Amino acid sequence: MEVLGDYHLHTSASDGRVDIAGHIRAAKARGLAEIAICDHSFSTFMFHMTQKKFERQRKEISSLEGHGIKVLQGVEANIIGASIDVPHTVIRRCDVLTAGFHRYISPSKRMGESRFLRVNGFGSVAAKEKLVCYNTEAFMSVLENYPVDILAHLGHRAPVDVAKVCECAARHNVYIELNEKHIDALEQDIGFALESGVKFVLGSDAHSAKNTGGFGKVQRFIEKHGVPEERIYGAYGKLPKFKDKRGWKYGNDV
Ligand SMILES: [Zn+2]
Ligand SMILES: [Zn+2]
Repeated sequence: MEVLGDYHLHTSASDGRVDIAGHIRAAKARGLAEIAICDHSFSTFMFHMTQKKFERQRKEISSLEGHGIKVLQGVEANIIGASIDVPHTVIRRCDVLTAGFHRYISPSKRMGESRFLRVNGFGSVAAKEKLVCYNTEAFMSVLENYPVDILAHLGHRAPVDVAKVCECAARHNVYIELNEKHIDALEQDIGFALESGVKFVLGSDAHSAKNTGGFGKVQRFIEKHGVPEERIYGAYGKLPKFKDKRGWKYGNDV
């Protein structure tokens, strides 16, 4: 597989151990055309994005232009119930908006959706019909109401009805991520994703430069499950297209 892009990279702005320049060097060495920096979002416990860091990253990315690789700025938003934890002003400035479930959320944010976070993050995820129903509604609501580009590591905790969520993602032009770190999470339900007609995009979830653009497990997964090349973006000659969020508004948001 000729990899062209990696759309899920962490830096020291959250819990990564590398800066943007380090990712650029590693991505160039692997022959990539573009990358997206998607650090952990605002309510992540401990290492997370802030308005200040977002501005700093934007400047850093501009100063690194001309290195022969396109760098997109994004955030890896936390899905918390039916919403995500990125200020709307920041959403409008993102080149790429990724959303996924994570369990380590700061206490203030836990208050409102404590059950959602507790059960998905720390409970047994064995077949729980009610929980799957609730999560599916929550994920679909996020895809319907926010300009999400990529659904990260689907199936990793927070069990959902993959068929329904992928159909919803396909309708809203959301890519399902083939995540190098958590590709196992898709193993069981990839059939539903394939049936839905949804598109896929590559994300290494690299926290250090040695993993930037590395997709060994994803490659084996693609071959094993016969994921069609024409539906995989960031490889096989195709780059993904992300939403223009500049004019986006949520409800009565001004
Ligand atoms: Zn994640
Ligand atoms: Zn991540």
